[in-house]
Amino acid sequence: MNIPFVSFEFINAAVKTGMLQAFETFFDNSMYILGKEVEAFEKEYSLALQTKYTVGISNGLDALNISLKALNIGEGDEVIVPSNTYIATVLAVTFCGATPVLAEPDIATYNIDPEAIKEKITAKTKAIIPVHLYGQPCNMEVIMKIAGEHNLFVVEDNAQAHLSTWKGKMAGSFGHINATSFYPGKNLGALGDAGAVTTDDPALAEKAVMLRNYGSAKKYQHDIIGYNMRLDECQAAFLRVKLKHLSRWTTERQAIAALYQKKLQNTGDLILPVTAAEATHVYHQFVVRTAKRNELQQYLTKAGIGTLIHYPVPPHLQKAYQHLGYTKGAFPVAEDIADTCLSLPIWPGLSEAQVDFIVRAIRQFFNG
Ligand SMILES: *Cc1c(COP(=O)(O)O)cnc(C)c1O
Repeated sequence: MNIPFVSFEFINAAVKTGMLQAFETFFDNSMYILGKEVEAFEKEYSLALQTKYTVGISNGLDALNISLKALNIGEGDEVIVPSNTYIATVLAVTFCGATPVLAEPDIATYNIDPEAIKEKITAKTKAIIPVHLYGQPCNMEVIMKIAGEHNLFVVEDNAQAHLSTWKGKMAGSFGHINATSFYPGKNLGALGDAGAVTTDDPALAEKAVMLRNYGSAKKYQHDIIGYNMRLDECQAAFLRVKLKHLSRWTTERQAIAALYQKKLQNTGDLILPVTAAEATHVYHQFVVRTAKRNELQQYLTKAGIGTLIHYPVPPHLQKAYQHLGYTKGAFPVAEDIADTCLSLPIWPGLSEAQVDFIVRAIRQFFNG
């Protein structure tokens, strides 16, 4: 058996007819930038996320960039981000001119620890960017409370957690303005780059609309300094088709995760994902941890099973962030996760027989 880390085979088969129709409609509409499809997708995504406004953006990083710009965050400001996130979260803070301040995650959930956030707040702190890593929302109740007490903005990075909830409320609907990505491999993925911001604040939505399109709300009238960070019309058309399947695909991911959870109990030193009681996890990734991570990954590769490491080097140890002056040991929790984590295949269409094959290989590795 050969099991790739990610396969689009099943989701593509489910949407192929719809996608071809969507392409034809888009093509015939002859409105290739900010047309009917972007507008319709924005409405549909807002409904799905139970948020008032969605503004389609070119990709997830740009959605973070626009969120911070819309909040007027810039030079001299500090923004608190998790020490174990994907680099994009940190880059957005750098791009707006502010300073990223890293806070450690909770080792059980891998999400930013509210206590660590509190320790990092200074007079310069303007915002917090909680990242709902691997598909599990952060403790948004406590994070919003901390933000309220210190007069801080919250920008959720919801790239990995579409449709996940904290106490029944959707991730991406808590913060003042929130960013998401529809990179092809995300739970909701386009056929290229795509992203969005979500907000309940009409002024922030309007600002995002202007920022993404040259600072303009009306053609050839430029009220602010903007960018070209628009969601592509054809990607919006494709996303509309896939959005209809997202809830079912999410249930499938959760069912696969439940199988792994059941079948991988008590396997060597393997640590399985832990979901907070208040959270629903949408399993963008199924991440296990072991001291023998590299050996396990090699063993699974030889057995024909694809795995990935999310992420092998935390932001503070990346060359790009050398200037922050951190060395190994600065963020021990993030470093521990980077050294021990391994993401197993989890995609809609992965069968129980394939899960069994993966589980058997993992057990064989630990039992010799
Ligand atoms: C994918 C991702 C991004 C960036 O999204 P792009 O669309 O690739 O720019 C940002 N943050 C997190 C947590 C991500 O997983």
